[in-house]
Amino acid sequence: MKRVANFNAGPAALPLEALERGQREFVAFEGTGMSLLEHSHREPSYEKVHREAIGLLREYLSIPDTHDVLFMQGGARMQFAFVPLNLLQPGKSADYVVTGTWAKQAYEEATLVSKPYGSSARVVVSTEKDKKFTRVPETSEMSFDAEASYVHITSNNTLFGSQWASYPETGNVPLVADMTSDFGSRKVDWSKIALAYAGAQKNIGPAGVTVVVGRKDLIQAGRTDIPQIFRYKGYADSESLLNTPPVFAIYMLRNTVRALLDWGGLEVIEAECKAKAALLYGLCDSLSDFYRAPVETKSRSTVNVVFQLPSEELDKKFLSEAKAAGLVGLKGHRSVGGLRASIYTAVRMPSVQLLAEFMRTFAAANR
Ligand code: PMP
Repeated sequence: MKRVANFNAGPAALPLEALERGQREFVAFEGTGMSLLEHSHREPSYEKVHREAIGLLREYLSIPDTHDVLFMQGGARMQFAFVPLNLLQPGKSADYVVTGTWAKQAYEEATLVSKPYGSSARVVVSTEKDKKFTRVPETSEMSFDAEASYVHITSNNTLFGSQWASYPETGNVPLVADMTSDFGSRKVDWSKIALAYAGAQKNIGPAGVTVVVGRKDLIQAGRTDIPQIFRYKGYADSESLLNTPPVFAIYMLRNTVRALLDWGGLEVIEAECKAKAALLYGLCDSLSDFYRAPVETKSRSTVNVVFQLPSEELDKKFLSEAKAAGLVGLKGHRSVGGLRASIYTAVRMPSVQLLAEFMRTFAAANR
């Protein structure tokens, strides 16, 4: 069966090698006579996969021993509540930088869950001008509370296509980042990140597992007056085997990260993401009477390229002709409109070249 060029925003394209390995091993896993889906998560055969997934992630993203790597469920949105529940100390405040819909929801959730504990969340700055979120803020716009429990940012804004080129300096205040849409696509200076979380379903695996990378001291000092299953510490102390983990999602994450390493590792993947984005933005800029990329140049995302056509009729025509050409998943988020090419780790350069070629031809025919 022919596979398409898949620009879905998430769940998204996975390495063919990872899928084929899953197919080969699906019914009977490594001589056990049963599928991994039928194993106990306490069996050595599963534990090996689990530990390998953690080890490969550490290797791929150069995660140091100062940080734990946790596998959780509930998606990135669950982390909107987990972060303040664990890290926002009673009576204290947390700072939120609001650069998109997800960032706003994270702030709103923190406000909700902190209230009963006499703590609060504060918006440091929002770039929601006319609901458009076309940039991340300048350093001069952010004045952090030196007493805050943490500062929260969204490293890449999936819907609007903006990204922090470098993270803000927060001094001694821990920096927490929702990295859902760019985790695994770029290097991270872990000395600057106190805690990061990411739903795996964009760059590093399938839906169903959320990765949390957090400083050990911060996790150990997390609040204990919250339900056990909500505590990062419980996951850290049990190596994410506190309860039944999403075994198959973790297995597919293992296959995916293995493939990314085999393709040359993070340096290669990051360079490729930059080159893919440069190709598409360059094309939009060179045909700017037809394609408009609304995000400010220095905030442009290397993984979600948002662009607009002159009319909604042309959007529809673009989408249907693209689909016929084997290019799928290009519709912008319903709250933003227009078009969006998500060019995560497993969307390789040849697929993006096909899209660029299609865009050139489409512009020539419809200008
Ligand atoms: N944060 C960001 C930046 C996202 O892109 C998404 C999903 N698109 C979420 C949070 C929510 O993720 P989930 O569906 O895993 O809860």
